[in-house]
Amino acid sequence: VPLPVDLVDMLRRTVAARGEHPAFVTPAGRATWSEVGTEVDGLAGRLRGVGVGAGDRVAVLAGNGLPFTVAVLATWAAGGIVVPLNHRLTPGDLGVLLADSGAGLLLVGDGMEQVAEAASASVPDRPVRLAVADPSGRFLPDEQAAELPAATPGADAPAAIMYTSGTTGRPKGVVISHGNALQNAVTCTTVIGRRPEDVELVMVPQFNITGLCSQTVPVVLLGATAYLLDGFEAGRALDAVREHACTSTVGAPTMWWRLLERAQERDDDALTGFRLALFGGAPMPTALLQRMREAMPQATLGNGFGMTETCSMITYVGGEDAVRMPHSVGRPLPLTELRLRRPGTDEDAGPGEIGEIVVRGGQVALGYWTADGIAPLTDADGWIATGDAAVLEDGFVVLRDRLKDVIKRGGESVFSFEVENVLHQHSGVLDAAVVGVPDEQYGERVVAHVVAKPGHGLTPDEVRSFCRQHLAHFKVPAVVEIRDELPRNPGGKVVKSALREA
Ligand code: ATP
Ligand code: MG
Repeated sequence: VPLPVDLVDMLRRTVAARGEHPAFVTPAGRATWSEVGTEVDGLAGRLRGVGVGAGDRVAVLAGNGLPFTVAVLATWAAGGIVVPLNHRLTPGDLGVLLADSGAGLLLVGDGMEQVAEAASASVPDRPVRLAVADPSGRFLPDEQAAELPAATPGADAPAAIMYTSGTTGRPKGVVISHGNALQNAVTCTTVIGRRPEDVELVMVPQFNITGLCSQTVPVVLLGATAYLLDGFEAGRALDAVREHACTSTVGAPTMWWRLLERAQERDDDALTGFRLALFGGAPMPTALLQRMREAMPQATLGNGFGMTETCSMITYVGGEDAVRMPHSVGRPLPLTELRLRRPGTDEDAGPGEIGEIVVRGGQVALGYWTADGIAPLTDADGWIATGDAAVLEDGFVVLRDRLKDVIKRGGESVFSFEVENVLHQHSGVLDAAVVGVPDEQYGERVVAHVVAKPGHGLTPDEVRSFCRQHLAHFKVPAVVEIRDELPRNPGGKVVKSALREA
């Protein structure tokens, strides 16, 4: 019998200890922990009644909210593997993920029935059963609840197939275990200093690793409260912070920028309610960090770096350290080993040398989901290569770029983050991304894509001359394109492949 050290046990303990405390609040209503426990037991029983058991994949297509959350927790309680899907994908792309994961059942949230039908119809040779939520948000309402006790999957059992953001290619299905998610929840909770009385605003998608493993699961672990916002919009997020007294949140840098702008526009002090203002997923421009600090002097600002393959966070920096090292993503979490390696070799990078971040620890996922089973994502010694280049300063990780995005110009390497950071310091620049494009003379040349602030007649020449004042000549963009917006995926990351093609 496996030890009951799993996400199901975590939920049970919270329901027992924090029953009357509000668990999840949404625009549609609220539920206490004991109500969540009852909903989860009901759905888990119905899932088991239709044959879901250990190792079975249950896909979920729903926006942030109670139905999504109950679907995930109930799949775990039934012993299954949950497959949260990005509901912004086309039916064709969803069909690919349904086929890839081998899900036999798709739980469908409000308003997503048509997309779900088209997606399941596109899966070749295999029926995917749909269970559409009823008006109260319950899935499989007509099934007889099986009189079966909840499962005890244990720490090593797969809990979810989490698709990566697809920033550098096709999304990969990462299999995370109950133990991975528990370790991440425990370590990130302690390091960040989350508390049971926190009210967490979840404004990133719950189907992403951050929303699920760095927000929802820690809230369950602590028996805290989460306000679930479906679809990020700055005004609605500010309203939620004020009306529901939210004390903490995590957002991509671009979301923070929009929150600050909207708050200023409408002279709103909602952000001063935050105790913890966290960010990650994409590089934080120092100019934006400075603005956050001015707008939220009361809050601990914190940067978390991680990836789907590590079940969210690898490093964190917050509070005093974040003030002292604003350009750093922090130190490794407890129980996490981190090294910098010369790319493509087994050798460690020397002091001050840029290397690829490689990581080992209990939060490193079980592997990638493939048609032939779970493929390893680490080397034989358990190290995973992140694809991110960094240097160490005083034990703190300073990211330089994704290896795939480093621009090779002549004999020099240009790190896109450095150029982007300078661009963000220009008072007329709202957003910026830098890519390399093929060049006959230099191999690659530096191209900047810049979005101007409204009312700023920003010109390419002005941007280039600003860069010449702040960057070595070979880093100065050869071409500056002024655009209306940058292509970003739901995690707030710029899709640089789309910019290179443009
Ligand atoms: P794919 O692997 O499909 O190309 P992805 O790597 O964007 O997509 P995720 O797992 O969501 O998918 O993102 C992890 C990556 O996000 C990291 O490898 C890193 O490049 C970037 N990242 C994460 N946190 C931070 C941070 N705090 N600062 C800068 N970049 C970050
Ligand atoms: Mg990746």
